[in-house]
Amino acid sequence: MSEDDLIRCSFCGCSTEERKHIIVGSGANICDKCVLACVEILIGANETEHTPEAAPVQGEEKE
Ligand SMILES: [Zn+2]
Repeated sequence: MSEDDLIRCSFCGCSTEERKHIIVGSGANICDKCVLACVEILIGANETEHTPEAAPVQGEEKE
């Protein structure tokens, strides 16, 4: 039971004992909970980027 064996999330600080998955990167780790938080942020950012006004409507008069 050494503390060194525990992988900790670099974002929230939780360990492999608390979370099911922790993805280990080079110099930083991230747990499943923080990945989901990131995905939510990215999806939210993506939605605001693609507003209907920003999308040009072209090529509707093909016939
Ligand atoms: Zn985390």
